[in-house]
Amino acid sequence: MSAASTAHTPSPAAREFLARRHRLFIDGRWVAAADGGEIVVHDPATEGEIARVACATESDVDQAVAAARRALTGEWSRLNSHQRSRLIWRLADELEANLELATELEVLDNGMPRMVAQYSIARFGCDFLRYYAGWCTKILGETIPVAPQDVPNGESLTYTRREPIGVVGAIIPWNSPLVMATLKLAPALAAGCTVVLKPAELTPLTALLLGDLVRKVGIPDGVVNIVPGHGHVAGAALAAHDGVDKIAFTGSTEVGRKILLAAAGNLKRVTLELGGKSPMVVFPDADLERVIPGATRGAFFLQGQNCMASTRLFVHDDVFDRVVEGVSAMAQAFRLGPGMAPDSELGPLISADQRERVLGYVEAGRQSGAELVCGGEAPPGKGYFMRPTVFGHTNMGMKIAREEIFGPVLCVQSFSDSDLKAVADEANSTIYGLSASVWTRDISTAHRMVNLIDSGQVSINCHAAVDPAIPFGGNRQSGWGREFGREGLDPYLKTKATTVKF
Ligand code: ADP
Repeated sequence: MSAASTAHTPSPAAREFLARRHRLFIDGRWVAAADGGEIVVHDPATEGEIARVACATESDVDQAVAAARRALTGEWSRLNSHQRSRLIWRLADELEANLELATELEVLDNGMPRMVAQYSIARFGCDFLRYYAGWCTKILGETIPVAPQDVPNGESLTYTRREPIGVVGAIIPWNSPLVMATLKLAPALAAGCTVVLKPAELTPLTALLLGDLVRKVGIPDGVVNIVPGHGHVAGAALAAHDGVDKIAFTGSTEVGRKILLAAAGNLKRVTLELGGKSPMVVFPDADLERVIPGATRGAFFLQGQNCMASTRLFVHDDVFDRVVEGVSAMAQAFRLGPGMAPDSELGPLISADQRERVLGYVEAGRQSGAELVCGGEAPPGKGYFMRPTVFGHTNMGMKIAREEIFGPVLCVQSFSDSDLKAVADEANSTIYGLSASVWTRDISTAHRMVNLIDSGQVSINCHAAVDPAIPFGGNRQSGWGREFGREGLDPYLKTKATTVKF
């Protein structure tokens, strides 16, 4: 593994943004937190402070929810679907126009390599907004060909229409902050909902930039409110709030469970995108030229801090050594460095705590007898960097193979069985079921495995294909519901059935 070059001097636009007095975005205005509290934002590549942001209290969340409730029946509700669509589309255009600044802020806040930030904001931020902008005019009800019992045919009409579910509380994590914000906002706005967005306390900056853009494009006041704050305060207040109709959450399974309990008070709707421990199964006939980069990038994308990461690699005995050798060579060749350095391929982890947690798992792996093939340590110097780590000869009895680590740690396990069910049972043997992949040239083996794997997504000869149009979400403790695509709109809508007797 080599080190990437040089520290980064922020551009004038980023410097200006970082130096601002960042407040909460409530009812179309920037307001201070009720108690004047602030979050200190750090660059994980340098550990240095880069900005200060107002930190929402419970009473600020109250204000934001009240604004969102008012907006639900205000000017926003009177816009027709074409007008709503155009506003969402315009938000995508503005985001694209500010791509350089958004990318730089995302990198400084989260640590991800610049190319990753730029690609993901353009591809998943802008494209998600545009994809859902197109749905505004396609939210259809049905006519139902029945009549009340005493009514002759032709003397009544029964139809349904889909209405916005109401006020949405969107609670998002730090691993891909701006993309997470847009993929909650896009379907909510397309459905005609209003939103209170709580970004993660570790990465609030690009959500605040989005606040600027929401204002600029003329989305009515109160439709989008943005309240950076701590999870156990602002997040918990939003999840429990009686004025919120639905929570859309992405984060850990542990916090997902808390949200569900908090949401029980008013039985608000909840969708959850939670953890994963995604298996990638490599059969001996697979094209190893594709498997090796696919497995390495799948495991270490965003430094392994993503729920779809292919962190369990099941490799057939016949090709095990070649795959482990190829993956570990590629992992060791990644250049670690600050995301803004042009040659960085892997950035830092999000925080010192996160790196400690991941190193704790590495130690647990060593103690359980897993073979450490490469990595396993933090390089010296500033920044929360960690070397990409590959454990060979793991098994599902080991904690590192079962639990979500959310860091750059890949567990490789061999199989010899030609019994596909036995292989799939191993792949299914965690509490998660988010994203899996199967690598083989045999289409029957591939599709038999698709039948056997219990996961919201199973890819063949690629891993974690993500697109605004492809439903995404987890089985078992990876989540509730689906995001993206038509299915991703449903949780933001409720059906009203109407019967007219002529
Ligand atoms: P991660 O493991 O990715 O850090 P978390 O699940 O800890 O994800 O956090 C995801 C989001 O949930 C963040 O915005 C965080 O502030 C918020 N959060 C954390 N705890 C709670 C809670 N008790 N109630 C509501 N939101 C919370």
